[in-house]
Amino acid sequence: MIQRDTIIVGGGPAGSAAAWQLHKLGKQCLILDQQAFPREKLCAGWITPEVLSDLQIDPSDYPHGLMTFENLQTSFWRLPFSLTTTQHSIRRIEFDLWLLERSCAEVAVHNVRQVRQVPDGFEIDGKYHCENLIGAGGTGCPVYRSLFRSEYPRDKTLQAVALELEYPYSWQDANCHLWFACNGLPGYAWYVPKANGYLNIGVGGMAHLLKVKNDTIHRHWDLLTKRLIAQGLIDELPGQPRGYSYYLRGQRKPVWAGNLHLIGDARGLATRDLCEGIGPAVRSGLQAARVVAGSNVTQAMDGDAFSLTRRLPQRILEWQFLRTHLAA
Ligand SMILES: Cc1cc2nc3c(=O)[nH]c(=O)nc-3n(C[C@H](O)[C@H](O)[C@H](O)COP(=O)(O)OP(=O)(O)OC[C@H]3O[C@@H](n4cnc5c(N)ncnc54)[C@H](O)[C@@H]3O)c2cc1C
Repeated sequence: MIQRDTIIVGGGPAGSAAAWQLHKLGKQCLILDQQAFPREKLCAGWITPEVLSDLQIDPSDYPHGLMTFENLQTSFWRLPFSLTTTQHSIRRIEFDLWLLERSCAEVAVHNVRQVRQVPDGFEIDGKYHCENLIGAGGTGCPVYRSLFRSEYPRDKTLQAVALELEYPYSWQDANCHLWFACNGLPGYAWYVPKANGYLNIGVGGMAHLLKVKNDTIHRHWDLLTKRLIAQGLIDELPGQPRGYSYYLRGQRKPVWAGNLHLIGDARGLATRDLCEGIGPAVRSGLQAARVVAGSNVTQAMDGDAFSLTRRLPQRILEWQFLRTHLAA
């Protein structure tokens, strides 16, 4: 049996933020991830300035491509407007590897299947044992599955589904475009240019609202690609997109139970207005690490439920995404 004080399952932004914080507090950990890094992660790769400041990243020190947008070209119900704000784009395949290496954690490739609570901690697949366990395995996290799911089943009204494609493309328009609620999409479509000649395009929406309307995310992908061609943002139909789902934040759930933590997408923490998941993953990871390291953390600090700071746009977007949920 391989014994470590702390094991983190999943080396995405949540897991690597936790490992980085543990290292800074003088604690070691082992990260288990089913994939060897660099690994692909479906994600538009938009990050906020808060992600950089939480992780103490100076953009000029980041060794890969990072773009900064000083405004977002946005439309809501086809009404165009420009939103002044500073935001960034990165490529997850680069960012996640860099964060993982920067965390200084020991990493092993292992597909976790079974997690058991035992009197002195946790056992993983009969091979690993730890006193503190952090579940950071994303939507399908095995820690969630084994130890939380029966008591805290996922709320399907909070499930966001997305289709996206990131590919090399010599884009001409360096703006980030977002289309909210277009063609009845309970969500938004995006065009996010990346440094070094990459482009990420995609659509995301709430699964239950699409189902209620007998609509599909694939229809919105087709509409998006036609719109991008019509607007001259791309010149031909791109390849096939890939899909993934994750959960927006619902009612507060227990943040930790003693030495057991669930962070990031494993816990369903994406914001209720913009479906932002990286920032909450990082914040919840930092917090879990502080608790494990014995810091006096008494309340949840896993980030805000909203990405936007102004209340009116927050609420309009929350309503757009979570109608059934709000009515319930
Ligand atoms: C199409 C799409 C676009 C998105 N765009 C954005 C965006 O632009 N900005 C934003 O903030 N958020 C975005 N999100 C959400 C964001 O990607 C996630 O919220 C974020 O990746 C969560 O980080 P995490 O570390 O919790 O999980 P993940 O990044 O999913 O990492 C989980 C890790 O756990 C590992 N793992 C899973 N199962 C096992 C297992 N059984 N054993 C061992 N390891 C395992 C995985 O290999 C993975 O490396 C988007 C999501 C999608 C689907």
